Amino acid sequence: MAKNKGTFKFGFNLSWIYLLIIAGLIYLLFARMSANPQKIEWAEVKEMVATDDVDKIVFVRNDFRGELSLKSSSVEKYKSKYKITEKTPQFVFLVSTQFNPEEEFATLNSALPKDEQVKIVMENEDNIFPKILDWLLFPLILLGFWFFMFRGIGRGGSNSGGAGGGIFSIGKSTGKLADKDQVNVTFKDVAGLYGAKDEIVEIVDFLKNPNKYTALGAKIPKGALLVGPPGTGKTLLAKSVAGEANVPFFSISGSDFVEMFVGVGASRVRDLFSKAKAKSPCIVFIDEIDAVGRARGKNAGFSSNDERENTLNQLLTEMDGFDSNSGVIILAATNRVDILDKALLRAGRFDRQIKVELPELMEREEIFQVHLRKIKIDKELDIKFLAKHTPGFSGADIANVCNEAALTAARKNKLYVDKQDFLDAVDRIVGGLERKESTILTEAEKTTIAYHEAGHAIVGWLLPYCDNVFKVSLIPRGFALGLTWYLPDERKIVSKTNMMQKMCALFGGRVAEEIINGESSTGALNDLERITAMASSMVQYYGMSDKVGQLSYYNSGSTAFDFSKPYSEKTAELIDEEIRQIVEEAHTMTTNLINSHKDEFIKLAELLLEKEVILAEDIEAILGPKVLPAENDRK
Ligand code: ATP
Repeated sequence: MAKNKGTFKFGFNLSWIYLLIIAGLIYLLFARMSANPQKIEWAEVKEMVATDDVDKIVFVRNDFRGELSLKSSSVEKYKSKYKITEKTPQFVFLVSTQFNPEEEFATLNSALPKDEQVKIVMENEDNIFPKILDWLLFPLILLGFWFFMFRGIGRGGSNSGGAGGGIFSIGKSTGKLADKDQVNVTFKDVAGLYGAKDEIVEIVDFLKNPNKYTALGAKIPKGALLVGPPGTGKTLLAKSVAGEANVPFFSISGSDFVEMFVGVGASRVRDLFSKAKAKSPCIVFIDEIDAVGRARGKNAGFSSNDERENTLNQLLTEMDGFDSNSGVIILAATNRVDILDKALLRAGRFDRQIKVELPELMEREEIFQVHLRKIKIDKELDIKFLAKHTPGFSGADIANVCNEAALTAARKNKLYVDKQDFLDAVDRIVGGLERKESTILTEAEKTTIAYHEAGHAIVGWLLPYCDNVFKVSLIPRGFALGLTWYLPDERKIVSKTNMMQKMCALFGGRVAEEIINGESSTGALNDLERITAMASSMVQYYGMSDKVGQLSYYNSGSTAFDFSKPYSEKTAELIDEEIRQIVEEAHTMTTNLINSHKDEFIKLAELLLEKEVILAEDIEAILGPKVLPAENDRK
């Protein structure tokens, strides 16, 4: 990043020379094409001579071709008919092998008075260079383009350095190297992630004091796999290991190995390892390792993805091949550990798996603190409040919230970033961009949306296991026309009651419309999709249906190409029936709940129509405090 600071530099590199050569060749081609004299017939030549317009004819005997130059006074006369200029010869004509030039030209001139006779030059052409050029120009241009494109591919389409030497370096690794003094991330830049940090501290120690371990005969682990959802700080953590141990950091993405040419991936793996060994001790970080490390042979028959398998085999071989005490430690990141090849995870390869989870409340607070270091915040700002209002956010989301809030405050010319800016940023990330064209909704549509959202809110408020409703809005955002914000409880285990009540909260919108309008609308598509997914996971995965029994048809190792179902047609019918039954039950529960609080429900919807945005306090004023589960009954 630092490189791009300041003014934009017009970088000069080899590509410019190639481009200039290609442009030059194209110019030459066009210049030759446009300079070509116009073709005419022998009969026209005779007419031109007869009208005294011809100055000279050069006849090339061995090519049976003549070049005709007009008198300068006659050029204008032919301009309307032919594309010619003053440049001579203006015309070229071809004759048959039977043509007798001496005889024909003599006849031509004999008809003219002596002083008007045309100058005739006969010659044999021995300069073949222009001909060769004509033949070669086009293939040369094609070759130039081909070479230029392959240079790009050779670099994997990236400007990441490493291999930059064109087609000949296509098999070179495209990884980025940060030397030890360039790695400026340490553990203090990585907030939270307590468990992961505890495990990774060990790796720093392996790099710093290898002798402590090798003296006792222990082998230093070769690699560790950082597993977790996107944006949780896996890359940051790997970089901080290099920063703490003060060693160089190689980083490459799994997809960088994959190329359309056979053997390139494997050769890039070899190259990466040989570079890393030369820089030992160092950290090699492979991001998104699932791009190459997917289990082999799973989709055989659909695509013969041999190239990826070869790359993976090479990776396995290299990991086996280097001495574990050589000081190279490989960290890899993925969020799909379930699809990785088992051979990659066995002892001696990525045998350590470090879980990098979404941050909890305390961790989110720390991450906010890290990212607020550089932001001018209001002194009153409560960081705990921010952490509380961002459940389910990853580190990257929090970094984004901080940046968005600062941008919003700057747009409003504020001196400090305050709480409202942060709340707006959170809303924007959760719900999408506010849409100003809310006027396109008719009054009737707006009323339906108000009742729909009030339905979600009231069910969420009254059922103890539903997440806390924190805000309801009628302002369209992203694809939604209205939104109800919840503060999810960060549970690790979810009970059946919990799931049923969540489905009821989702049904709140649809049921509200049915009660008020007497019919349903298309507005509940997203809710129904989620309800159906929840109900089918209860039946098919979690064994929560009495009729289907304690069975789970979840297959962690499945691929997109598993077409056969692990159950019979009869069970399939039973599953369908049970899913429908659960959804029906949730629908009835929701209808009864809203009907039994109809007055409050209508009040809530009217308040929403009036204010457009209502908060938890407004709901509490109508419905009383949020109904919570009994203290020791948290399911
Ligand atoms: P992906 O799986 O998508 O590659 P990742 O897990 O590697 O994501 P990073 O690239 O490490 O995530 O994180 C993205 C950004 O999020 C970081 O640059 C940092 O600003 C922020 N971030 C994530 N986690 C943390 C954390 N624990 N502490 C501080 N910042 C964090």
